[in-house]
Amino acid sequence: MSWIYDAHIHLSDPEYKSDIDMILNYMDLLKIKACCVSMDIETSNETLTLHEKSKNVLPFIGIHPEMAQKDSLPVYDLIEKNYETITGIGEIGLDRTYIDSEDEWKVQKAVFSKQLSLAEKFNKPVSIHSRKTLPDIFEILPSYKISGILLHWFDGNKSQLKTAMDNQYFVSYGPLLVYANDKQVLLTKTDPSRLLVETDGPVKFSRCFEYKTTEIMFVPSVIFCASKILHTSYESLLVQIEDNSKKFLGI
Ligand SMILES: [Zn+2]
Repeated sequence: MSWIYDAHIHLSDPEYKSDIDMILNYMDLLKIKACCVSMDIETSNETLTLHEKSKNVLPFIGIHPEMAQKDSLPVYDLIEKNYETITGIGEIGLDRTYIDSEDEWKVQKAVFSKQLSLAEKFNKPVSIHSRKTLPDIFEILPSYKISGILLHWFDGNKSQLKTAMDNQYFVSYGPLLVYANDKQVLLTKTDPSRLLVETDGPVKFSRCFEYKTTEIMFVPSVIFCASKILHTSYESLLVQIEDNSKKFLGI
């Protein structure tokens, strides 16, 4: 039987804290593995704790662009000390929404680059936040030799998707796929061997998801919806995504 992979979820977010034992239980029962991404030192430590509790939690630690102005050294240290334990580095990336000056932009870029160099050093995949910064990210990535690169919540245009596919990056789509037409179009243009799915929980989604805290149990709905759009069966897409996830993770 196949495993379901959520390529990007913040199980270390405080919002999940009270339900985490139940979530880990469900993951076991429903055969779901999750790339658990982190934001800062606190959530990176929490991600490592969750991995101790359940091996279905695949730990990604790192500094999110929103947190890039804080002291980043403790997270770099944590990566160095735990390189044998962690599955990957993330959530890392670039986002101008979180900066107020050119200096802060430089800091954000430096933090991103440092984490890419750690991923290269320890041969780890990366989970990248690229909101409205794909051109910058496409310029930076070729300087690093990283085998698994995921542009999570892919939100580029068709030509940027082509650039991602040409460079053999992975892209992931989440619950938005169920109702957002532009995402459905992008999905049809995505190389099936580069496709991953995610929830990005606890981010909340509208429409049929009614702004409820996103649960990892939404992943099968995303896969089901993608299978309809791609005119394939749920089972065959599930197998394809499991295969793609293992390639991304290098396992
Ligand atoms: Zn995220």
